[in-house]
Amino acid sequence: MFYDYHMHSNFSNDSKTDMEDMIKKSIDLGLKEICFTDHVDYDLDTDFDWGIDYNEYFNKLNFFQDKYRDKISIKKGIELGLQKQITDRCSEDSNKYPFDFIICSIHAINKLDLYFGEFFKDKTQREAYEAYFNELYTVIKKYKDYSVLGHLDLIKRYGAYDKILEDSLFSDIIETILKQVIYDGKGIELNTSCYRYNLPDLTPSRNIINIYKDLGGEIITTGSDSHNTTQIAYKFDYIYSYLKDSGFNYVCKFNQMKPEFIKI
Ligand SMILES: [Zn+2]
Ligand SMILES: [Zn+2]
Repeated sequence: MFYDYHMHSNFSNDSKTDMEDMIKKSIDLGLKEICFTDHVDYDLDTDFDWGIDYNEYFNKLNFFQDKYRDKISIKKGIELGLQKQITDRCSEDSNKYPFDFIICSIHAINKLDLYFGEFFKDKTQREAYEAYFNELYTVIKKYKDYSVLGHLDLIKRYGAYDKILEDSLFSDIIETILKQVIYDGKGIELNTSCYRYNLPDLTPSRNIINIYKDLGGEIITTGSDSHNTTQIAYKFDYIYSYLKDSGFNYVCKFNQMKPEFIKI
C-alpha cells in the first residue's frame, strides 16, 4: 500500500491541476491515502504571491474528504518554504490551521528563489551547497512546527553545473541537520521528483538516507512532489522496496501532525 504525502494542485502557483483530478487519478492508481501539500512561500524577491487562501483550501479539502470518503483518505498538508527570517510567520500559519502534515522545505535563501539562479551568481558550487545546508540548519534550530524535511538535498537540482557535488564534502552539516531532526521527533521524506530532474540519485541521496537510518532516524514519508496527474506515486513500487531493503520496516502517515507507522 502506497502513501503519497507530497502532492500539489492548482492551489499552488506552479500547478494547473484541479484537486479533484489529482484525487480521481490517485483512486485509479489504487492509493488508499494521499496528502495535499500545496505551496506557501513567503518573502520572495519576485512579483507574484506564493500564499494560499487557507479558508478556501480547507473548505475544498473538507468537501473532497467527504465526497470521496469511501474511496480514499485525503489528508490536509502544506509545503512551507522556510527562510530564516520568516520562521515566526510560518509557525503562526502552522498553528492556526488544523494540518495533518507539514513539509518544511527550503526553496529560497535571502528572498532569492533557488529556481531562478540569482542565488548562485556570486558563489562557487561548494559555497552554494554550504549556504543551502546552513540555511536549513539555522531554520530547524528555531522552527519546530513541521512533520518532515522536504527534498533535503534540493540544492543538487539547481545551478548550472556539470555535475553535483558529493555528500562527503558536507557530511558534518548533513549529520548535524539529521541529528536535530531526530532529536526533535521529526522526519524526512523520500521525494521521487529526482526522476523528473534527471538526478543520478534519489532525493535525498541513498547516502543521506543511510546516514539518517544509522543515526536512528525512523520517521520517513514518501512523496512524488507531483504537480499533475501523471506524476502521482511515481516510482513508488521501487522506493518502497528500496526502503525495506535499506532496513526501514515502516513508512509514516500523519494524523493531526502525529506520525503513524505503517509496516512496509
Ligand atoms: Zn518543494
Ligand atoms: Zn513540492
